[in-house]
Amino acid sequence: QAKEAGKNRCFFFHEDTDSMSRDMLKTEYQLHRAIQENELHLVYQPQVDTSTGQLQGVEALVRWSHPERGEILPEEFLPVAEKVGLMAELENWVVRTASQQAAAWNHDGVQYGKMAVNLSGSFLKRPDFATDLITIMAENNCPAGCIELEITEGFILHGANQVIRELHRLKAGGFSLAMDDFGTGYSSLSYLRKLPIDKLKIDKQFIKDIVDDDGSQKIVSAVIAMAKSLGLTVTAEGVETRMQAEILRFKECDQLQGFLFERPMAVSEFERLYASTGTG
Ligand code: C2E
Ligand code: MG
Ligand code: MG
Ligand code: MG
Repeated sequence: QAKEAGKNRCFFFHEDTDSMSRDMLKTEYQLHRAIQENELHLVYQPQVDTSTGQLQGVEALVRWSHPERGEILPEEFLPVAEKVGLMAELENWVVRTASQQAAAWNHDGVQYGKMAVNLSGSFLKRPDFATDLITIMAENNCPAGCIELEITEGFILHGANQVIRELHRLKAGGFSLAMDDFGTGYSSLSYLRKLPIDKLKIDKQFIKDIVDDDGSQKIVSAVIAMAKSLGLTVTAEGVETRMQAEILRFKECDQLQGFLFERPMAVSEFERLYASTGTG
C-alpha cells in the first residue's frame, strides 16, 4: 500500500504538473497584485445599429496590462481567476469601473448608448448578486438604465430558479439584460421565456462562416426570427467583413459589433471618436 501511495505521490510531483501548479500560483499572486495595483483596465467596443450605423452601446471588456508580459486577454486570465477564487473580486472591480465610466460619460454628455458589462456564471451563483449590483450602481451614481448585463447560458446548469428570480429583480430595478454567445451553450429554449432578457447576441462562430456556410446562415436566420417573435433585439458579434454585414442587414439583424466597425478601445480613443458627435 505504501508503495501505491508512493507511486501516486510520484505522479503528483511529475514535472509537468509541478510546473503547471507553479505557474498557477505565480499567476494567482500576480492577479491579486493586478487587482490591487490597478493593472487591470477596461476597453470599450461599440455596437451599432445595422441600418443607420448609429452607436447603440459599448461593451466593456477587461484587459490586464502585465508589467512584463504586456497586455493579456481575458481568455487567458479569467479561467485562472475562476480557479483560484479571485473572480468575485475581479468582477466587482469590472462592474464598479464600468459604472463609474458610464456616470462620467453621463456627466460629460458623451453619448455611448448602453454600457454592456459581462457577468460570469460564478457571479450569478452568488446568492445576492442583484443587491450587490444595485448597491454598486447607487455608490457610483450610475442609473441602472445605463447598464446592460450580458449573461451566458451556462448558469442554467446550476440553481437556475434562484438566478432567474435575481435577474427579474435586476430587470425590475431598471437594468437591461442580454444573452451573450447565443447558440454555443445549452440554449434551453424554454428558459428564454422565463428570463427577463431584452437582447440575444449571436455568437461570433456563426458569423464567421455566414458567407460560405449554408448551415451557419440558416442558424442565424432562425435565431433572428425567433428573437423577433419574442420581441428581443438581436445583435451579431464578430462582424469582420462587409459581406457579413450585408448578409446580416438583409436578414434584418438589429445591431452589429465587430472589428469591421471598431476594435475594443481605450477610454481616450473612444472619447476622441465619439465625444464630439453627440447631440446632447
Ligand atoms: P464576449 O463577451 O463574447 O466578448 C466579445 C469578444 O469578441 C471580445 O473578446 C472581443 O474583443 C471579441 N471581438 C469583437 N469583435 C470581434 C471580431 O470582429 N472578430 C473577432 N474574432 N473577435 C471579436 P475579448 O475581449 O478577448 O473577451 C473574450 C471573452 O472574455 C468575452 O467574450 C467574455 O466572455 C469574457 N470577458 C471579457 N471581459 C470580461 C469581463 O469584464 N467580465 C467577464 N465576466 N467576462 C469578460
Ligand atoms: Mg459579451
Ligand atoms: Mg459573446
Ligand atoms: Mg465569447
